[in-house]
Amino acid sequence: MMTVQQGVDNRTDTADRKVKLGRVAYGAATIAAFDILAGEPILKIEGPEVSVPDRYTIQIDEDTHIVPDEMAGRYLNHHCSPNARFDFDTWTLVATRFIKQGEEIAFNYLTTEWDMAAPFDCFCESRACFGRIAGYKNLTDAQKSQCEPWCSPFLRSKMAAAVRP
Ligand SMILES: [Zn+2]
Repeated sequence: MMTVQQGVDNRTDTADRKVKLGRVAYGAATIAAFDILAGEPILKIEGPEVSVPDRYTIQIDEDTHIVPDEMAGRYLNHHCSPNARFDFDTWTLVATRFIKQGEEIAFNYLTTEWDMAAPFDCFCESRACFGRIAGYKNLTDAQKSQCEPWCSPFLRSKMAAAVRP
C-alpha cells in the first residue's frame, strides 16, 4: 500500500498542471494530462526573455522572445487548425475546443512569430493548412487575413505599420 503522504504528494504535483511532456510520431510534444474543456486555460507561458529567437521561443515583441520555463511550453507543436490559442492579455494558452486526455496540444505559430528561426513545411492535413510555416511576415495577404483574428498584438502592430502609407 502507498502511504497517504505519497498520494497527497502526487496530487500536489499534478493538481494545476493540465499538460505534460510526451512523444508523438514526429518527436516531443505537449500532451493533455486531463480532459480539457473548450475555453479552459491550459498553460501560461512564462520564462526568460531573449532577443534572438530559436525553435523553442515564443515571440512577444519585435526583439523579445520568451523561452518557456516549462518543457511543456517549449515543445508545443504547430497546427494550422489548432486546439489551443493564446489569450494575449495573460499569454495563456486556451483550449479552442474539447481536448481529450492524451491528445497533443498545439497552437498556430503564425499567430505569434513574425519571421521564424526554424521554418518548416506543415503536414497537419487541415483543410486550412498554410503549407510552409516561416512566420506571419511570409504569408500571402489572404493567409494573413485568415490568421489575423488570432494574432498577437505585436503581429497586429506590424500589419498596421505595413499598410500605413
Ligand atoms: Zn498545417
